[in-house]
Amino acid sequence: MKDDLTPQDAERLTAYMQHMQACAVRSIGYPTATDYDYSALFPLLDISLNNIGDPLIKSTYELNSRDFELEVLEFFAEIFNAPVNNWWGYVTNGGSEGNMYGLYVARELFPNGMVYYSDATHYSVQKNVHILGLNSIVIRTQDNGEMDYDDLSDMIQLHRDHPVIIMANIGTTMTEARDDLNKINTVLKHLAVKQHYIHCDAALSGVYSALLQNEPRFDFSCGCDSLAISGHKFIGSPIPCGAVIVKKNYKDRIGQVIPYIGTADTTISGSRNGHSPVFLWYTIKKFGREGLIKRAQDCIALAQYTVKRLTELGLNAWANPGAITVVSPILPEHLRKKWQLAGEGDVCHIICMPGVTKRQINDFLLDVQDELQSKG
Ligand SMILES: *Cc1c(COP(=O)(O)O)cnc(C)c1O
Repeated sequence: MKDDLTPQDAERLTAYMQHMQACAVRSIGYPTATDYDYSALFPLLDISLNNIGDPLIKSTYELNSRDFELEVLEFFAEIFNAPVNNWWGYVTNGGSEGNMYGLYVARELFPNGMVYYSDATHYSVQKNVHILGLNSIVIRTQDNGEMDYDDLSDMIQLHRDHPVIIMANIGTTMTEARDDLNKINTVLKHLAVKQHYIHCDAALSGVYSALLQNEPRFDFSCGCDSLAISGHKFIGSPIPCGAVIVKKNYKDRIGQVIPYIGTADTTISGSRNGHSPVFLWYTIKKFGREGLIKRAQDCIALAQYTVKRLTELGLNAWANPGAITVVSPILPEHLRKKWQLAGEGDVCHIICMPGVTKRQINDFLLDVQDELQSKG
């Protein structure tokens, strides 16, 4: 109750809430779905849910949502074609944690492995490689943000004495480019690399790319060994979350049984959010597979509309195939600030996540038009 606060503190909180609500209306540049309504779950906010430890092994801590977590993981395992009796996973605090877990498993398999990732890779990967004490090489990218496979081949050849660990992007942060697992596998085959591991950073576009069966495929049937997604992006959640799925026989090298919690310590953090699996479950159930596909198609259509309109305004805007990210020449700072558009070098992007409306895009386009006219 706000009555518990001093008038000043209550006022500050109210002002903050109003400010956040106003900002949310103009957020078209960061990849979070906003079309959710979790009010049916609000009673759970009075309970200290905690999915501590391994989601697949029962714990002695009763206030948990492990059954929901398992259903969420089963949904992801299925859309990513994980090997039926040989997958394991957990709901993480986000895509970065899932990527770290994939690298952790890879390192347990290949302590001497060399990690290869493109220079369009999410900034968190470099840090995680460092934490894990792995060696790594950054690979050049093509203009669309996709890995340069010739450079990958050259670099692997130069380090033939190391097992190969590849961090493939399924939707890069800036241009939503997808690295092609077929091409990566061709390189590995051509160079006769026997020891290799591919982790897919599918944080941004993994869920809808899998649902839409976009080519090139990137799932477990195409050589992926582990995969991470963010839950607060396409699915949508007020709390950052994600999921990681790995091949079970690899993961079995990790974690010991801890009597205190009655389960195994196989996850990166100990206590784990018990609410986010229920949020994810709720949206997955509410839309169902078909509803989620429709939702993704709407996002892609809106992205294509945005590209078309920006092009008509004379801007060199574009999107990768099947992407919901629109890349635009960098816009002035006041517009990027107002519309929350992240910029890098000479480009910035608009991301047509679920919840972004045509009306918001049109309002944004009016601002762009005004800006172009004022410059003459
Ligand atoms: C968002 C994102 C991440 C990080 O995920 P978090 O959920 O923010 O931890 C990693 N890689 C890519 C490509 C992303 O878009």
